[in-house]
Amino acid sequence: MPFPYWGENHEGQDMLREAVEQLDGAAGLLGLDPNLAERLRYPKRALVVTVPVRMDDGRVVCHTGYRVHHNITLGPGKGGIRYAPTVSLEETTALAMWMTWKCALMNIPFGGAKGGVCCDTLKMSRREIQALTRRYTSEIFMLIGPEKDIPAPDMYTNEQTMSWIMDTYSMQVGYTVPGVVTGKPVVVGGSLGRREATGLGLCNLVFAALDRLEADPRGMTAVVQGFGNVGSVTALTLWQGKVKVIGVSDVYGGAYDPAGLPVGAMALHVAKGGKVSEFPGVTPVSNRELLEIPCDILAPCAAAGQITKENAPRIRCRILAEGANGPTTLEADGILAEKGVFIIPDILGNAGGVTASYFEWVQDTQKFFWDIGEINRQLERIMLQAFRQVMALVDERKVSHRMAALMIGISRVSDAMRFRGLYP
Ligand code: NAD
Repeated sequence: MPFPYWGENHEGQDMLREAVEQLDGAAGLLGLDPNLAERLRYPKRALVVTVPVRMDDGRVVCHTGYRVHHNITLGPGKGGIRYAPTVSLEETTALAMWMTWKCALMNIPFGGAKGGVCCDTLKMSRREIQALTRRYTSEIFMLIGPEKDIPAPDMYTNEQTMSWIMDTYSMQVGYTVPGVVTGKPVVVGGSLGRREATGLGLCNLVFAALDRLEADPRGMTAVVQGFGNVGSVTALTLWQGKVKVIGVSDVYGGAYDPAGLPVGAMALHVAKGGKVSEFPGVTPVSNRELLEIPCDILAPCAAAGQITKENAPRIRCRILAEGANGPTTLEADGILAEKGVFIIPDILGNAGGVTASYFEWVQDTQKFFWDIGEINRQLERIMLQAFRQVMALVDERKVSHRMAALMIGISRVSDAMRFRGLYP
């Protein structure tokens, strides 16, 4: 049966098609009950809202926003909110589906959700972004809450956005509810280490993969695409781990230096509003060229669909560490696997973010906050446990790393659905 959203060809539809194809592939290997497999192909609910914003020039511009709950069998919905011109119902649904598998893979008691607003924040003022955020929050108010669905940051949203969401929700109910979002600043109930957790968790896995490959991090080279929350922390952590980071990029382009980039100084330059390609002394490269630089570790930490069947044959890395969601298309995945690339698939690779979000929600709920040592210890424990489980299934079933991660997540969700039964 065709999936209902398929039709015109755009990026979100490709992502959703891939997400459903991944599910179908894993369901086949698991021998999943076809009734359960069919149910998992569809989201539980999807809300489409219009977000009118008075712009600084007096015009009122209507933006379309979404919040999708793919599956909430294991607990409240969990998933980021993305502000980007590419946001669509299909993209949001694909990302919500991946969140379902990711939370289950990490053994975190959350379901899968995702949200977003189709907008270009790079062209908007702070006041306009705040107005958009507050109106979007009140439009999706009926879906969110600490026991229902807990949003978090994603592309072009950050701890300031989460503070505005938390404040808007709290104003509506009349008291402060820190647990309605994660990724908040520590002063309003955020968790130590949350901002760094996605990049840090990805590096925990890279070092575990190097260990498995019996390779010493010293002397290894890395290229990181995207220098935002995930990419900058990944680059910094690899650099601190004695890996030579030879290429990084942001949406404007990349920077290359075969002798190694001064990642710490570049992070300060970007924090002040600079572009990585304009950092003194680097060789500017395009994002396309950046991905094709020969290196040991390639970490795509920006957008989806960056590694395709066109550029995959030219990609030369030993480890592909996916910080972004959906950076590699299914066809590219096959090409890289044939080349023997060690893939750390996105639902495992970037799961440090949702893991630390879970810690933040637990701390908000219990009103008891942990120190950074405890957070990073628990993060590493959960990341490495999932890594070992994925590797064990790879060895046992001779499936790809991505398929093993999906199979673990999907089987946990479907086991829970089977026990709970079909309502009514
Ligand atoms: P961010 O907005 O902080 O940073 C995004 C970075 O990517 C910026 O440097 C931006 O300039 C760059 N970029 C955007 N489009 C690009 C393109 N087409 N080519 C090259 N660079 C581009 O976002 P983030 O929070 O770091 O998220 C990055 C990715 O990681 C997304 O795919 C997101 O879904 C995923 N992710 C984020 C988290 C998290 O905790 N923030 C958790 C899990 C997954």
